[in-house]
Amino acid sequence: MSKRIQLNTNYSKDHQIVVGYKLEDEIISFLSDNFSLKKAVFIVDENVLGLYQNSYISSLKVLFDEVVLCSVPEGEQSKSLSQYTDIVDTILKSKVERSTPVIVIGGGVTGDLGGFAAASTLRGMPLIHIPTSLLAMVDSSIGGKTGINHSVGKNLIGAFYSPVAVFADLQFLETLPQKEIANGLGEVIKYGMISTPSIIEDLEKLPISKPFVYSKDWEHLVAICAKIKADIVAKDFKESGLREILNFGHTFAHVIERVCGYENSSHGEAVFMGMWGAVKLSNLLGFNIDIANLSVFRALYTSKFDPEESVAELTELMLHDKKVKDGSIKVIMLEKPGVARSRIIQDVSVIQESWKFIIEEFK
Ligand code: ADP
Ligand code: ZN
Repeated sequence: MSKRIQLNTNYSKDHQIVVGYKLEDEIISFLSDNFSLKKAVFIVDENVLGLYQNSYISSLKVLFDEVVLCSVPEGEQSKSLSQYTDIVDTILKSKVERSTPVIVIGGGVTGDLGGFAAASTLRGMPLIHIPTSLLAMVDSSIGGKTGINHSVGKNLIGAFYSPVAVFADLQFLETLPQKEIANGLGEVIKYGMISTPSIIEDLEKLPISKPFVYSKDWEHLVAICAKIKADIVAKDFKESGLREILNFGHTFAHVIERVCGYENSSHGEAVFMGMWGAVKLSNLLGFNIDIANLSVFRALYTSKFDPEESVAELTELMLHDKKVKDGSIKVIMLEKPGVARSRIIQDVSVIQESWKFIIEEFK
């Protein structure tokens, strides 16, 4: 049995997020009930296409008289204007209609790129997300953010655009490389820190450092995380307040990714290091957060962080974050486990101390 999560917002189309295992039949009924089966656009991660084209993907394709297939090369560099233009060209040249469904199957990269193509082509075609990475299932496929990168920075071109449905099928995690599981777990741990501390205990019971094997416990965990994100987004679709708590660890992480180079760093790993700093910062601000909540997962992350930049320079780089307002550093910190707040930091010395704490641990 799959779990259903309803996402209702004032801004976006209400839609269902379905979390489960082997969801092909459910997806087929959804498509048959909601669309003319004449034509569909499939935007698929190239690795996922290689692994599933004769199974999962062909069982969805045969539903339609005609399928326009776009394969997306792996990696962040695919979130580019040129990939976007290629996809839009392919879609438009195949004479689709505005009601033709766009089915996006892949991780966060394919989801953001394919989602933006669906959002913008013909002023918006119906988008169905089938996230195939853990990160995409618990984070990027939920909340309607779509977009691509610009040479000036990441995710600077895009739109808030809700899918008509999201199907997170844990079957895909069976082929996801181990390091990508750890990447997604960075966000899962984050939900444990900012919202639901029982996630940390649930995670400790799962064999998270072994190759993925489906279990109800995993399904429960993915569904809880998707629901936390959906509930936060429902209250703040366009990111004016509450949604910023999802940025816990990220103000540090964005700087870590920047100085290490986006190609060399895993987002989940950078978020883990960032949360390490954010816990320290919370404690420096007078709260009492046990670093053990993070240190139990320390062995999942093996990268080093020993930057050439000084802690003052790293702190200065935080001011370039696109979420920074009015030249002051806003950081999400914890008041207690499961309770996060944003705080404007005037005294940069506490941030510098937090950077020292990160480097001490990860150098
Ligand atoms: P993320 O989902 O972490 O944002 P990507 O979209 O870049 O990042 O996906 C991470 C990597 O995992 C890519 O190389 C992608 O091709 C691969 N991938 C995604 N889903 C699967 C899957 N189910 N099986 C195998 N590889 C996958
Ligand atoms: Zn993140």
